Amino acid sequence: MTNRNEEIAAYFRNMDRSFFMDTDKELARFDEAIPIGHGQTISQPSLVLKMTQLLDIKPDAKVLEIGTGSGFQTALLAAFSKQVYTVERVEPLYERVQERLRAAGYDNIRFRLGDGTDGWEDHAPYDRIMVTAAASIVPPALIHQLDAGGKMLIPVGSRFMQELQLIEKDRQGNVQTTVYDLVRFVPLRGQYE
Ligand code: SAH
Repeated sequence: MTNRNEEIAAYFRNMDRSFFMDTDKELARFDEAIPIGHGQTISQPSLVLKMTQLLDIKPDAKVLEIGTGSGFQTALLAAFSKQVYTVERVEPLYERVQERLRAAGYDNIRFRLGDGTDGWEDHAPYDRIMVTAAASIVPPALIHQLDAGGKMLIPVGSRFMQELQLIEKDRQGNVQTTVYDLVRFVPLRGQYE
């Protein structure tokens, strides 16, 4: 493991997952996705760590996250990048997560309520994109908003099972896909559900 990935792992081990949950806090210690209301879940901890490490985030990176949810993944991204832009479509989650992450002292996160299948055009291009909800295909807007030399992680597949895909855009704008594990995320609502 690189030093950077060790640093991410060390930071992650010190995170209190129950802080990101308002109910069922006693379930926080299990390595499973747990419901957070509105039909959504806080992601499985081992996967949050693994995906953050795979994304290979540089300290000066501008990161787009789709599916803010509880803010657990958002916080980890914020700790290891310069600026995080995160999009959530469920309003109560969007409201709650802002209070939570501000209370925790993160000041490099911008929040947007809306459909993340469109990305967040205003601040594009992004060095890194993390999608934490499952799509049937990679939304073209997200590929478009990924910078040359950028990387994106996204679960792609059916409603029940997806493959974790790493999309890399080279300097010429060509896109290459590497497939990692089978995962199961809640659906990315909208056009590519
Ligand atoms: N990383 C989050 C995962 C939450 S689950 C966590 O660990 O808490 C996925 C999130 O994606 C949910 O909050 C869901 O509301 C959101 N979501 C689903 N479809 C979306 C869309 N089209 N745009 C933005 N957010 C979406």
